[in-house]
Amino acid sequence: MKEFEELEKTIKYSFKDKGLLSKALTHKSYKKPYSNERLEFLGDAVLNLVVGEYLYKKFPDSNEGELSKMRAGLVNEASFQVLANSIELGRFILLSSSEERNKGRQKASILSDAFEAIMGAVYLESGIDVVRKISLDLIEQEYKNISLDYLLQDYKTSLQEITQALFAEIPEYKLEKETGPDHQKNFEVSIWIDGKTYGSATGKSKKIAQQAVAKIALNKINHGQ
Ligand code: MN
Repeated sequence: MKEFEELEKTIKYSFKDKGLLSKALTHKSYKKPYSNERLEFLGDAVLNLVVGEYLYKKFPDSNEGELSKMRAGLVNEASFQVLANSIELGRFILLSSSEERNKGRQKASILSDAFEAIMGAVYLESGIDVVRKISLDLIEQEYKNISLDYLLQDYKTSLQEITQALFAEIPEYKLEKETGPDHQKNFEVSIWIDGKTYGSATGKSKKIAQQAVAKIALNKINHGQ
């Protein structure tokens, strides 16, 4: 699969089994007898372990509650979307044409799931040490000063301060979609700053989705995008 070589170069890992890589990139909308859902399931577990171990070692003075909060700040859809974007994963995902028209390549859930699936696939063929190296390199590159304060900060407030300084404007949050039954609702919120969208994110409440999308916008602006 020549088209995936670029991705392998970016993560500095060459898959022995190219079919496994292609499976990890296959969204369930793509009409194949397989999808990346099982690999995503595995990758999710591996990333929880790797990030848990990383925080355990990095913060010897933090208690279990703080470590859990920090891990939740890193192991979530918005964070994985940031990591996925840092390796331009969206370009490589195999999607149906309707999902493509739906801007599927930019969706937090699709990007985050594919990221988890890739890590699940690396784990399967090369083990946890390699996953640890790839994922922690990305985390350290994207999150330069991880701390409890940083991970629990109010992203909406931080972002507003920055956009007021940069654009003399405050971000606008738009509710894109509300799905699911009353007790299990899911909200998709997009963010607009100075007439341009910086992405969208989903969450169990509008507030959670807004925080998640603010985090994404903050990251893009911090990287000059
Ligand atoms: Mn997932």
